[in-house]
Amino acid sequence: MSLAAPEAPAAAGPLAELVGRATRLYEDLDLKAVSDWKAGDASRRAIGFLPVYVPREVIHAAGALPVGIMGGGDQIEIVRGDSYFQSYICHLPRSVIELAVSGRLNALDGFVFPSICDVIRNLSGMFKVLTADKWVHYLDLPQNFDRDGGGTFYRHELATIASGVSALTGIEVTDERLRASIRLYNDNRRALAELQALRVQSPWLVPATEYYLLLRASYLLPPESHTAMVRDYMRHSRDARRNAQDNIRVMVRGAFCEQPPLGLLRTLERAGCYLVDDDFVLGARFIPEPLPEDGDPWQALIDGFLYRSLPTASKYDVNATKEADIVRRARDVRADGVLLIAPSFCDPALLDQPMLARALEKAGIPCTSFKYAEDTGQFQVIREQAGTFADAIKLWGTT
Ligand code: SF4
Repeated sequence: MSLAAPEAPAAAGPLAELVGRATRLYEDLDLKAVSDWKAGDASRRAIGFLPVYVPREVIHAAGALPVGIMGGGDQIEIVRGDSYFQSYICHLPRSVIELAVSGRLNALDGFVFPSICDVIRNLSGMFKVLTADKWVHYLDLPQNFDRDGGGTFYRHELATIASGVSALTGIEVTDERLRASIRLYNDNRRALAELQALRVQSPWLVPATEYYLLLRASYLLPPESHTAMVRDYMRHSRDARRNAQDNIRVMVRGAFCEQPPLGLLRTLERAGCYLVDDDFVLGARFIPEPLPEDGDPWQALIDGFLYRSLPTASKYDVNATKEADIVRRARDVRADGVLLIAPSFCDPALLDQPMLARALEKAGIPCTSFKYAEDTGQFQVIREQAGTFADAIKLWGTT
């Protein structure tokens, strides 16, 4: 089994400092960063959103900070969260409830729950009761990818979010404000695309754990601060002159909602895998390319969602292109193999998995699968499985 160790970040220096800052944000379950941001101006508001995607530009244009809620990971003990749900569903909603009832989400003034599965839908209903003094919106994302049908419906949804957040901030979402927000998020898209390109080209410069921490930081920081962080990271990482290891190149799919613990990513790297592409924190790059910055900004967001967003299990693919998409993407990033991972009991991810596995096998791309929970603590089995996968590919080019 491969025992290649990932490059450790420097113990000191600008790269270590930046990774340390991203780690502190990842661990900031009390949302201190959000409270600090709000303390800068009494009129500031913050809106939490659940996976996978919400149009952050609209929230931002209404003068609020969009804040991603990704659950408690392996950092909190579930005391009351379990009593809200039956046992045979994923872990994420339990830890989100735990965060709410323990007061850790108090810095947030409202919540958006995008349609992704029944679990999130039920969670939005619970928040209406648990946080009755706050604005709670269930965002029905269109599953009709036609401008006149789904597009018209989505325009109405965007307007509802705009008026809901504006009511909290007192700031109207004008076309001009929305264009300015799109410009800021476009800068962020460009920075994240450059980071992804660097990772594909030289994965030893962008370890999976650091890439992941940077994505998570985007869910707490204002967009311009996060863009600066990503650009600083790329500069410092290139300067760090890390060496390439004898690892295989792996693409990960299935982790678009409940996130794997950081230790699991570390385990995959230690098992000899460079992660060159994944769907972690997918909402941070759901529309990967910049949107038009002139013309109707609402239409830019609508077309971005309908025609430019990434394929994922939470989108019903009427043209059934997910199989072709995963094969094309694996080839684009020169993946030696694909890890199809999924949170336990995640219906959307597990329903897609056999179809994706079949497409990969047909294309001759090795894949393997396993399940996790956000608080998984034992990684030995996963390490052995990923290590064997990596070794088989190194030895025979297949599994
Ligand atoms: S992990 Fe899966 S089942 Fe659970 S809330 Fe997310 S999409 Fe729904």
